[in-house]
Amino acid sequence: MARSVELTFLWDNKQPNKQWKTITTNNRIHQRYNKLRNSNAPPNNPVHQAITEKRNEEYTSRRNKFKSISCMRINRIIDPILYQPAFSRDRHRLIKWRMHWLPSYPLKDCRCGHKEARRENFATCPLLQSLLIDLIDKFGAIPELPPNMHQLDHILNLLPKSEVGLIMGKWKTVWPALIRVLREINFLSHPDDIFDEDEPAPEETLEFLAPPSSTSPD
Ligand SMILES: [Zn+2]
Repeated sequence: MARSVELTFLWDNKQPNKQWKTITTNNRIHQRYNKLRNSNAPPNNPVHQAITEKRNEEYTSRRNKFKSISCMRINRIIDPILYQPAFSRDRHRLIKWRMHWLPSYPLKDCRCGHKEARRENFATCPLLQSLLIDLIDKFGAIPELPPNMHQLDHILNLLPKSEVGLIMGKWKTVWPALIRVLREINFLSHPDDIFDEDEPAPEETLEFLAPPSSTSPD
């Protein structure tokens, strides 16, 4: 999209024919670009700024519309769960949790007996408590959260953006503990499935990362 918008600008400058003018005049990013370019203090790169502002606006609008996005970070960044080291099944669970597809629909009863257990029920599920307490012990105190938000969302929103950050300090133990909680939520929310396959310890994904150096985390 960024490329096509950029091309639109180039076309507009180099070939200002009527058709392109009509298309670009109705393009909201182009309108913003013109406004920035013609302002008293135009930015160095009005194309980049117009696109960034539009994307930020879109993100804010979606945060207000969708419960799943409202639980994510306030800043629009690539979620580190997409690239931090994790086994593929764990990565699926991380993404499904973020998308509110874990527990999956239609909702099933939790193995603790809770009927049609939703994600919020896994804040208090007695069968999850020991893993959840272990995670919070490793992470530290969690402030009061908005009603829709789970402790896991809060922790995921503070996940380091770099691999170096993940193997320093508390994150080295928080990350595997968090993955164990998601594995258990997956297990508890699929009471009819058989889980007889051992999965590797989540710590194994961190074994091959470079040891902490003078590089600052995050
Ligand atoms: Zn339960």
